[in-house]
Amino acid sequence: MTLVALEGVGKRFASGTQALAGVELRIEAGEFLAILGPSGCGKSTLLRLIAGLAAPTEGVIRRAASRQVGFVFQDPTLLPWADALGNVRLPLRLAGVDRAEQEARAAAAMAAVGLAGFERAWPRELSGGMRMRVSIARAMVTRPSLLLMDEPFAALDELTRHRLNDDLLGLWAGSGGADGTTVVFVTHSVFESVYLASRVILMAARPGRVVAEMPVVLPGGVP
Ligand code: ADP
Ligand code: ADP
Repeated sequence: MTLVALEGVGKRFASGTQALAGVELRIEAGEFLAILGPSGCGKSTLLRLIAGLAAPTEGVIRRAASRQVGFVFQDPTLLPWADALGNVRLPLRLAGVDRAEQEARAAAAMAAVGLAGFERAWPRELSGGMRMRVSIARAMVTRPSLLLMDEPFAALDELTRHRLNDDLLGLWAGSGGADGTTVVFVTHSVFESVYLASRVILMAARPGRVVAEMPVVLPGGVP
């Protein structure tokens, strides 16, 4: 099933910058898609269009009807006055889920990212890697059909990054893999894109566009 389809999509900002041009892209349910390209090629703009946070100035974007979107940015932006569990259950609170279920689901999401036992920790007490884990748990707690990640690990040290890459793959597999959460992961790391994704699209700048596409894991097979 196609979750999001972009047809001839362009984005021109009021400043005159043509951030994207002629983008054809289909995001299929269950895939792990990496968007790879140098800084300034329009990756973040493309992600915002996919999320529905911005509108294209050319072309059309079609979306499957029911879809819950989770977002993870490079800056985890945790609420400093809430503990880790409080941060993770926030989206459920906003959705009006009852308190007991909020706590249970948030605790399960924290355990899934390796943070069992850290529920009562304050954001400032956590390392950068652990804050990122809280941010991922917060995005996954609503069981999104689509998880959008914008260079999430770029600011972390290499070892933490490797661990998070592994754990993210585990989390994706745990969500049901090809039957679970669809991940769109923006990165400028070739290593990260090939390591994580089942499909990589490569972008170039001025104007931002998709110049190549590469399946990493072939259908039904190993890489
Ligand atoms: P990337 O994520 O690949 O670094 P961006 O999507 O952030 O690229 O930016 C693509 C291009 O669009 C860049 O030239 C950037 O300066 C420009 N751009 C991004 N956002 C805006 C905006 N809100 N207004 C004007 N230009 C923008
Ligand atoms: P940084 O981002 O500073 O590199 P990490 O997130 O990798 O830090 O972890 C910092 C310290 O916290 C390490 O000693 C690590 O073993 C410990 N740590 C990280 N995650 C957990 C966890 N889920 N349970 C217990 N200890 C953890």
